[in-house]
Amino acid sequence: MKFDELLMIPGPVQVHSRILNAMAKPLIGHRTPEFSDIMKNCTLGLKELFGTDGDVYLISGSGTAGMEAAISSFSKVSRITCIDNGKFGDRLCRIASRYTEVDALRFEWGESIDLEKVKESLENGSEAVAFVHNETSTGILNPAREIAKIAKKHSALVIMDGITSVGGDEVKMDEWGIDVAIVGSQKCLGIPPGLAAVAVNERAWEFYNEKAPFYLDLMAYKKKLKDWQTPYTPAVPLFVALNEAIEMIKEEGLENRIQRHRKFSRAVREWAVNAGLELFPRLNEYSSYSNTVTAIKMPEGITDKELRGTLKQEYSITISGGQEHLKGKIFRIGTMGNIGKREVVATLMAVEDILTRKGCAVPAINHALEVLK
Ligand SMILES: *Cc1c(COP(=O)(O)O)cnc(C)c1O
Repeated sequence: MKFDELLMIPGPVQVHSRILNAMAKPLIGHRTPEFSDIMKNCTLGLKELFGTDGDVYLISGSGTAGMEAAISSFSKVSRITCIDNGKFGDRLCRIASRYTEVDALRFEWGESIDLEKVKESLENGSEAVAFVHNETSTGILNPAREIAKIAKKHSALVIMDGITSVGGDEVKMDEWGIDVAIVGSQKCLGIPPGLAAVAVNERAWEFYNEKAPFYLDLMAYKKKLKDWQTPYTPAVPLFVALNEAIEMIKEEGLENRIQRHRKFSRAVREWAVNAGLELFPRLNEYSSYSNTVTAIKMPEGITDKELRGTLKQEYSITISGGQEHLKGKIFRIGTMGNIGKREVVATLMAVEDILTRKGCAVPAINHALEVLK
């Protein structure tokens, strides 16, 4: 018999039935007061998740559309420092290089960011910095507040990919000094893929590039926001989904939601180290483990295909492997969005079953259960 997949990957995530049901309602037109109401709710709700009084622009497109909108719209700089300690940091470098000169600060994937290097790059005349807050590819949480602090000393623009932190972990754009930040719909917000949101403060407009790609030019979104509208036809069902997701976040309470995400990822880590596995990221005094996705080294004696393939086949649970050169070297368990203890325990038990059968781990679920109490 075929069962519904349980998606325990860092996006797209499991979508709650309340959200699926909201999306199944008859479509509404977008140039209507009904749509504007939804748009307003979504925008105001997202502002809280970003921790900003600034604008939030909603783009119909995946997270990468948000990254490109942010960088291309605010690329009036002679040089931008892009920090790469994982796949998405590398993507920031690649996007930025299409619009301006890039100072790429590259660290081995899984490594922490050396803040001295950021300082040096800005001292050398870079006028902006772009980085990933929660590097999904390696399971590391980069020090947003510290990076922004260094940037502020040089009055540099700060662009942050918060795609897997906003809505799941603490993000305080205004307090930290982040000028532009991005989130994607299919991660901690818990709705299907296809929406990106870019939060922007007033200062960012000093860096506005009027040659940004037409669809991604944030000025168009800014102009329409006054009427709670989008410049082009939006992905209406996804806005309806986001509206429901925001309502669910309000019901749960943002602080509770953040604590839940932290608890779930801590449970995964406690399980992993006690099972005899090794966490992938190499931390320094400023970085920490991600609170939304856990990257674990693939143990000796089992292949990626054996682990993830068996998990999918026997348990209908999907977890992620490594990306690019990390393929086969790590596996990643996402604990994002609207999931409960059931999903976390089932996933860990199933992974443990497959690993112990192969002699690659020892039972350790009690350590996870202790955290989840
Ligand atoms: C998923 C993700 C992206 C890319 O989002 P897409 O929706 O795949 O375009 C960018 N940054 C981070 C940190 C992500 O996790």
